[in-house]
Amino acid sequence: MSQLTEIVSYSPATGHEVGRYPNTTPETINELVARASAASIQWRALGFRGRKKILRAWAHYISEHIDELAAIVAQETGKPLSDATLEAVIAVDHLSWAARNAGRYLRNSHRAPGMLMANMSTHVEYQPLGVVGVIGPWNYPVFTPMGSIAYALAAGNAVVFKPSEYTPGVGYWLGESFNKIAPEANVFFVATGGPETGAALTKSAVNKIAFTGSSATGKKIAASCAENLTPVLMECGGTDPAIIDRDCDIDKAADAVLWAAMANAGQTCVGIERVYVHQDVAAQFTEKISQLASELVVGRDYGAATMPKQLAVIDSHIKDAARLGAEFIVGSADSVQPPYVLPTIMTDVPEESLANSEETFGPTLTIRSVATMGEAIALANASKYGLAASVWSKRQGKTIARQLQCGMVSVNSVLAFTATPTMPFGGVKQSGYGRIHGPEGLREFTYTRAVVALRFKIPLIFTTFKRTAKTDSFIKRLIQLLNR
Ligand code: NAD
Repeated sequence: MSQLTEIVSYSPATGHEVGRYPNTTPETINELVARASAASIQWRALGFRGRKKILRAWAHYISEHIDELAAIVAQETGKPLSDATLEAVIAVDHLSWAARNAGRYLRNSHRAPGMLMANMSTHVEYQPLGVVGVIGPWNYPVFTPMGSIAYALAAGNAVVFKPSEYTPGVGYWLGESFNKIAPEANVFFVATGGPETGAALTKSAVNKIAFTGSSATGKKIAASCAENLTPVLMECGGTDPAIIDRDCDIDKAADAVLWAAMANAGQTCVGIERVYVHQDVAAQFTEKISQLASELVVGRDYGAATMPKQLAVIDSHIKDAARLGAEFIVGSADSVQPPYVLPTIMTDVPEESLANSEETFGPTLTIRSVATMGEAIALANASKYGLAASVWSKRQGKTIARQLQCGMVSVNSVLAFTATPTMPFGGVKQSGYGRIHGPEGLREFTYTRAVVALRFKIPLIFTTFKRTAKTDSFIKRLIQLLNR
């Protein structure tokens, strides 16, 4: 079957069409990658300062037109305008940080040559990869891909970006805005389209794929990239826990955890889906969070589910929990009311239920009372995912955080790492591998090159067929002395 020439973008709130964009073909993907590859040489030659100028001008442009961008985000995702604006603000902060700091973190790193090579000078270079293919999701269609786009460009790469088919207008706007700033650069192309367009990008001559999306799609992408050993950065899903200790500020914890669970209609990769609360404060916490949840207004505090088919997934998780004996503290087994999902908080939900073991990606939360923080840690870690977590404790916050198997933890706060450009972002286990943001995020889009150069000649040369017995005996003695 031939590929459709266009994809249509709809408003999830109204169901109305809001735009049409090309469904980029594999042939066009290959052309774009070839153009980006050719232009990347000039981009690399600009150096950190040259690229910084352009990327900061882009950040300036986006910040000046943030209302325009936020309006498209709100329209295509269904999220409130205020949330869309906040998302764009954080994305610009990352772009600006990457532009300003790439030179600092990617400059040559001098290394000690060691005793055996004391006559050599040694350093490591961080070289751009070439062309990075970025495949993005719809839930944070500016913030999430920008974590790869900005860092890859700042590191000296060209980028071909395939936005989600649910938010092509946002991707298109980003491409147009960059081209207004640097019309001749040819280093940032946006290829709108569906999964086939993404698949074509993974098979193209890109030098790395930076993927953000579900773990199921991530596995397909990793398999496709394996054919050419194309490296992949995987930012996938999770079912993140919050751990509530008995000595924490319960009111603050309830307020923040509720927001982390339900903002953006629960469609946040690092959103909280499970709570493990100390039994001494479980009743107090549950009562407080339920009271706050009952004050939420759907359509005002969060919007419609962006992807209609996700509603069936959320519904199946809620119904599965109900079947397994869940008690509904807020909401009910019928919380899914298309295109919205009502706030839903459940207790007595078994760990093996879909709601606890799989990513729900809706405004739902399970709460379980635990006898000790050790039990909470064990339950938090029992997941196949390991993206992020939130810990609430006055005395033991960092001690608990250290024992969690995940890439990011907020102590006495939620999601704080997202708006901190210096901090690496990413997960472990089936939540993915590799890091965006921070120095690690810049290095993710480079390869290291070891450069060792002769500084001065010494009489004992190892790297020759003319090596003498005297040299052999000297190096043997030297290593024995060094390891006494
Ligand atoms: P998805 O996996 O359905 O799609 C993501 C992207 O992959 C889309 O652009 C899609 O077109 C593309 N795609 C689909 N099939 C493909 C294939 N075979 N080859 C190449 N590309 C393909 O994810 P989604 O529904 O758009 O996003 C939600 C998911 O993203 C959630 O699981 C969420 O947790 C995750 N997410 C993770 C992070 C993170 O940083 N870890 C951030 C945001 C979202």
